[in-house]
Amino acid sequence: MSIDTELIESRALQVINPATEEVIEEIRTASERDVREAIALAKQRLATWRWNTNRRDLLRECAAVLGDKRNVFALAKLLTTEQGKPKREAVAEIMASAHWMKSIANLDMPTHANIETRVGTATTRYEAKGVVAAITPWNFPVFLAVSKMAQALYSGNVVVIKPSPHTPLTTVRMISLLTESGGGPLPDGVVSPLVGEADIGKRLISDVDVNHVSFTGSTNVGRQIAVSAAANLTSTTLELGGNDAGIVCSDANVQEAVPKIFEAAFTNAGQFCTGIKRLFVHESVFDEVVNALATKADASRVGDGAHPQTRIGPLSCRQQFEKVLRLMDDTRARDATIKSGGTTLDGPGYFYRPTIVTNIEDDAALVTEEQFGPVLPVLRFSDIEDAIARANRTSFGLGGSLWGEDDAMLREQAAKLNCGTVWLNQHGALDPAVPFSGRRDSGNGIENGWRGIMSMTNAKSYFGISHSDDAH
Ligand code: NAD
Repeated sequence: MSIDTELIESRALQVINPATEEVIEEIRTASERDVREAIALAKQRLATWRWNTNRRDLLRECAAVLGDKRNVFALAKLLTTEQGKPKREAVAEIMASAHWMKSIANLDMPTHANIETRVGTATTRYEAKGVVAAITPWNFPVFLAVSKMAQALYSGNVVVIKPSPHTPLTTVRMISLLTESGGGPLPDGVVSPLVGEADIGKRLISDVDVNHVSFTGSTNVGRQIAVSAAANLTSTTLELGGNDAGIVCSDANVQEAVPKIFEAAFTNAGQFCTGIKRLFVHESVFDEVVNALATKADASRVGDGAHPQTRIGPLSCRQQFEKVLRLMDDTRARDATIKSGGTTLDGPGYFYRPTIVTNIEDDAALVTEEQFGPVLPVLRFSDIEDAIARANRTSFGLGGSLWGEDDAMLREQAAKLNCGTVWLNQHGALDPAVPFSGRRDSGNGIENGWRGIMSMTNAKSYFGISHSDDAH
């Protein structure tokens, strides 16, 4: 039974190429019946999948399918068409997905713990929660779906994935490649896609047969999901927005730092949850950093991601494009200085040139909001303690970075940043073995590492029976 009981009808959904604004494909969204059937099939598969001792091998086989050259290029091409990212980045996303799947499969997770008690040995086993609803955004549609699938399937869960309505095609294609009816290693129904908009997502998470919700997306929707899931006391993992600060200290190696900072701010046209979205620079190197960033921005070719020379593709959807335009209107009204970019491209497509903004206050919308676009505000500081305080003055808490040569000082300041991940002289690297989490408006729960996998399990304790490693 669901909370929103009105029947959801299947509708036509046009998937748009953000570089041309042309319709790539018109597909049908899922209906009420499709949601019920996907969950029923998942539950049926759960009965055998949770006891399947070959799960990790099957995940390794999935990784091999994803990493197969022909699949990499075919998926990457479709990804560029529906999401906009340059071909090079699309290929990197598919290859990172294959790597993630394999690395998660290779992680060792405690399956049980024996505890000596006053009444004998107790054993706590970690069991699959059951049906996991995975809801994904449009910025890394394949990678985020694969990461959720790998962690859920590893511990015996089954998965129903609802991709973003802006970028459903690559996710659906990827799931087809990995499941038996499409020639893949996984039994059909162990993972299945449900295409649709927010109504399908709401319907999915409010179903009593969904046992865990793994959501990546915006803070506002994350809040709505927490409320909906609470009705059935369904557990959630919420990976939400970010407004990461990079802090460049007076002793930073500017030549080495600037290309990395540029990459961390403008990859995927800035649509990166852990991208640098505010850059604080010490006054002694401020002009040097700003000029070097502006030079890189001016030299970056903006265009259709399908073109081999393109460095920065379009924003992925009209709604995001309009958000960037609104933030830049506000920035201009404040008389901030636009050092480079600040304009759209002529013709169709949601293109915005890479933009470096200075002379802007900390309370401007461009600084306080998650821009999620190719625009970087650069703010001046003179005292590192002040820079840390300003970096922490946000409701987000995803990541942050410090750039400099004095290791001891960097470490001391890193401990003061109020966020889930801190990078020193780099920004944005993630690893399947390393727990990833946000704080406050950036969400809760953990993904990756064995703690990420454990969060998709329930603990079940036994008194009076002793269990070995492979006992169920
Ligand atoms: P979004 O929150 O608008 O949508 C995400 C998904 O939720 C989509 O599939 C959407 O259809 C679905 N949805 C919307 N309303 C829903 C509801 N009420 N119930 C259930 N499902 C619903 O996010 P977006 O615009 O697609 O993605 C951009 C956001 O994602 C940014 O804020 C970004 O920071 C965040 N993000 C976070 C991480 C992270 O790991 N922290 C990673 C990538 C992206």
